[in-house]
Amino acid sequence: MATVAPGSTIGIIGSGQLGRMLALAAARLGLRCHIYADAPGPAFDVASAHTIAAYDDEAALRAFAASVSVATFEFENIPVETVSFLSDLVPVRPGAKALGVTQDRLAEKKLARELGAMTADYAQIDSAADLAARIDAMGGMAVLKTRRFGYDGKGQAKLGHASEAADAWAAIGARPAILERFVSFQAEASVIGVRGIGGEFTAYDLVRNEHRDHILHTSTVPARLTAQSEREAVQVTRAIADALDYVGVIGVEFFVLELSRREVLYVNEIAPRVHNSGHWTIDACATSQFENHIRAVAGWPLGTTARHSDAVMTNLIGKDQNSWPKIAAEPGACVHLYGKNEARAGRKMGHVTRISPRNA
Ligand code: AMP
Repeated sequence: MATVAPGSTIGIIGSGQLGRMLALAAARLGLRCHIYADAPGPAFDVASAHTIAAYDDEAALRAFAASVSVATFEFENIPVETVSFLSDLVPVRPGAKALGVTQDRLAEKKLARELGAMTADYAQIDSAADLAARIDAMGGMAVLKTRRFGYDGKGQAKLGHASEAADAWAAIGARPAILERFVSFQAEASVIGVRGIGGEFTAYDLVRNEHRDHILHTSTVPARLTAQSEREAVQVTRAIADALDYVGVIGVEFFVLELSRREVLYVNEIAPRVHNSGHWTIDACATSQFENHIRAVAGWPLGTTARHSDAVMTNLIGKDQNSWPKIAAEPGACVHLYGKNEARAGRKMGHVTRISPRNA
């Protein structure tokens, strides 16, 4: 399989901050980026070319494919058809199969179970009547989630009884969904893994994540979970990446439960892309998740995922970014701002990674 040489152009679908940080990492390796998105975004500022067009605009997709050596994507809410169409013209990594499975919470959970991993109990829900029947069978609190196009807690409703079914079904827009038993977890964690074009795999250290209002707030490494949990989480991530013939960075989110005094991991979600809980790797590792994604899709050897520092990454959401002068003056604080103009509530405007000498 051909390697994409320095001087070549990588196509990135999506113009958000993940595309921006991918393009910055690519630039360091002498690679150019062409961003394709249906609206401008922070990636445009740092890429050598961009296209604004709909994801089903075949002429624009053809021109994009002709201008790049390989393509990838930075968010999963693009149609699988876009990736399939492009795949006939240029390699797309990861491919349509990985995107198809990870876009669908039901397919994702089924895959995790097939591979022997645990998940919260779940049921497929296609109507308010399904929901009413299933919620009582599940017993106790549960979360209804749209199968597709949900993120940061959007498209979710919590309920505990059949009498709430009609409202919950309406709240998520009456769309195909899954019902998940509400899990009382001790912690949330994630693994950022990377798989190369030859099937080689490596992963960063397990990350402990805290959410606020359903949005990631902080990621901390080391996660201070057991060595056994760390091994299992990496094994599961690798098995998922292998099953999807994956190329690039993959993020797998876990719930960590304590059952009979043992830490037990449930797979919550799989992200077919670089992940917010891997941003700390820019400042605490020799090779960041962004560089490793670019290396993988370009067919380069993967870089080390070893960590040289302890790190706490905090997202700057909405008006949090106004504190940048204070953060910029703080020793050991690495500030990253995405160049977004409007600091809307809930919008990821940047992040800060506080690093300290490695302790464990
Ligand atoms: P998700 O979009 O599935 O990642 O959910 C966003 C957040 O909601 C998770 O990170 C959890 O904090 C919470 N959450 C989602 N599903 C469950 C569940 N089954 N039990 C408990 N908390 C959940």
